[in-house]
Amino acid sequence: MDFKQLNIIPSIMKAVQTAGYTKATEIQYQSIPHILNGHDLIGCAQTGTGKTASFAIPILQLLDNQKIKSKGIRSLVLTPTRELAVQISENFKTYGQHLNIKHLAIFGGVPQGKQVKALNAGIDILIATPGRLLDLISQGYIDLAHIEILVLDEADRMLDMGFVNDVKKILTKVPVKKQTLFFSATMPQEIRKFSQSILKEPIEINV
Ligand code: AMP
Repeated sequence: MDFKQLNIIPSIMKAVQTAGYTKATEIQYQSIPHILNGHDLIGCAQTGTGKTASFAIPILQLLDNQKIKSKGIRSLVLTPTRELAVQISENFKTYGQHLNIKHLAIFGGVPQGKQVKALNAGIDILIATPGRLLDLISQGYIDLAHIEILVLDEADRMLDMGFVNDVKKILTKVPVKKQTLFFSATMPQEIRKFSQSILKEPIEINV
């Protein structure tokens, strides 16, 4: 489907065109309208399907629509690895190049100084691996009380890597009223049950 049919704002469409994309991938055209409408969503999709843009584009659009000057972090993307955090961050950079929305990726295995400095400067969208996120929350550098949109990316891998308790702990620190987007490459019973415990009347998409 042509991106033009998805009601994406011109400032993001311009970036999509610069990236050279004309047709939305299946996950993108199936999920973007529902996310823009504020629905919770469960998406069964592998990496390589264009899944990252399917949440990055509507998140940028929803946050831009509000035109609120940032009072804190408004969207959190949880992802299992540093590599994925960097890739997701690059997507936000690409699609948000004409917007005034700040994003940051934080992950373990590197000193925290630079990440803390960037956090203190104020950001709208935080992309994080669970361990480093909890670490910086416990040190008082991060407050998740203003999160409006939460993404769990590669939920199956997050659980496989033993992050279940970390993720549950993080979920207690975000507001109850929020939009949640849950992505997983596989949907075994355990993941489905977990998703049901956190999603409200989600739209389900399988690609
Ligand atoms: P992902 O599944 O998010 O890891 O994306 C896989 C690759 O597809 C990335 O290199 C994206 O830049 C690219 N991609 C994302 N959306 C589109 C699109 N609509 N058309 C062509 N390529 C895309």
